[in-house]
Amino acid sequence: MLRSALLSPAVHAFTGLAEGDLRRGNTEGLASLAAVLGGRSPIATVSQVHGNRVLAAEDLREDTALEADALFTTTPGTIVAVRVADCVPVLLAGPGVVAAVHAGWRGTAADIVRLSAAAAATAAGCRVHELRAAVGPSIRGCCYEVGDEVIQGVGAVAPGASWRDGRHVDLAEANRAILAEIGVAVEVVGGCTRCGEGWFSHRRGDLGRQVGAIRA
Ligand SMILES: [Zn+2]
Repeated sequence: MLRSALLSPAVHAFTGLAEGDLRRGNTEGLASLAAVLGGRSPIATVSQVHGNRVLAAEDLREDTALEADALFTTTPGTIVAVRVADCVPVLLAGPGVVAAVHAGWRGTAADIVRLSAAAAATAAGCRVHELRAAVGPSIRGCCYEVGDEVIQGVGAVAPGASWRDGRHVDLAEANRAILAEIGVAVEVVGGCTRCGEGWFSHRRGDLGRQVGAIRA
């Protein structure tokens, strides 16, 4: 379980292989994580669709699976989480608010991290630059060879992101750059999920999922 020093004291975690497969439907695994984080169960999650919709956990109902890719909450004890396996998990914390963001290339290109920061700040009645962020383990530029659609889509929102050979994109760096640009202090933690040890990787063929989770 990985944590960001910058994001602390907000209670949060990026899980990996050690915490087991936390894919959709593994309610036991998420309940265990909720206990570790000292928050309410069930952990609030959404049906992730690689879009840029941001929801308040307070608007979720237990018996529905709303489609969105970011969740925030202002309710003390509520935990929000996103499931990933190569896509970028981004956690945000500010005065009285936390958020979890699923940022694959489509979400990154659709500006989901910027929209999430704005929504979280609005909900908390604070400025965006009062938020702090952690970008978790994800597939990095070393392993993420992509086509023109991705290069153009991500390049449009994060021209400063690192590229390699013009065919590789680093989504963690892209999201770090976007957050830095809007004044959010950000730390990148963990390595590449595909070539590193300890994480599920979709591109390596894993069906399992890890989560980025944070408690209000
Ligand atoms: Zn790699």
